[in-house]
Amino acid sequence: MQFGQITKINSDDTDGAWYCHRCTRENAVIHYLGAHPFVQMRCGQCNHVACTDCYMTSILTPINPDILGPAPGNKYRIADIVPGHESYGSICPNCGITHRAQAVWTRAHFWNSKKPTHIQFQEDCECGMSEDERQWTYFHIGSNKKWRLQREQCYMEAVEHRIKK
Ligand SMILES: [Zn+2]
Ligand SMILES: [Zn+2]
Ligand SMILES: [Zn+2]
Repeated sequence: MQFGQITKINSDDTDGAWYCHRCTRENAVIHYLGAHPFVQMRCGQCNHVACTDCYMTSILTPINPDILGPAPGNKYRIADIVPGHESYGSICPNCGITHRAQAVWTRAHFWNSKKPTHIQFQEDCECGMSEDERQWTYFHIGSNKKWRLQREQCYMEAVEHRIKK
């Protein structure tokens, strides 16, 4: 698998941007289906791994997973999970690769059927980093609509965020 840097920011096929809190560079965000929803989130200028201090447009929002309703076994109870399209994920603090959280299926009481009731975040990364070694960044995957339709507004909000910091 290729984890190349994404540099095409002015094209229309981006889904958002994240603004490096260390050097302020705008980095393109493209949402892909599959296990690595935003491929690798490393700043194209200073190599910083995206963190909760960086500003991101609404395609992804950093979250504290504890707000999700923690369940035993490092799982979180979520409504409306569509397997393969789980809308949560995490960023490895070491290499910046993003990992989509996976649906966890639970056996229903009746009919002996299973349905997705929880999600579970990735606990380790291809680079060797495990979840308990260093603080990972967790995120919710949102919509690219505002970015596509009101890009000026997105820039303004990013600038405002920077001023407030
Ligand atoms: Zn940077
Ligand atoms: Zn940061
Ligand atoms: Zn990693």
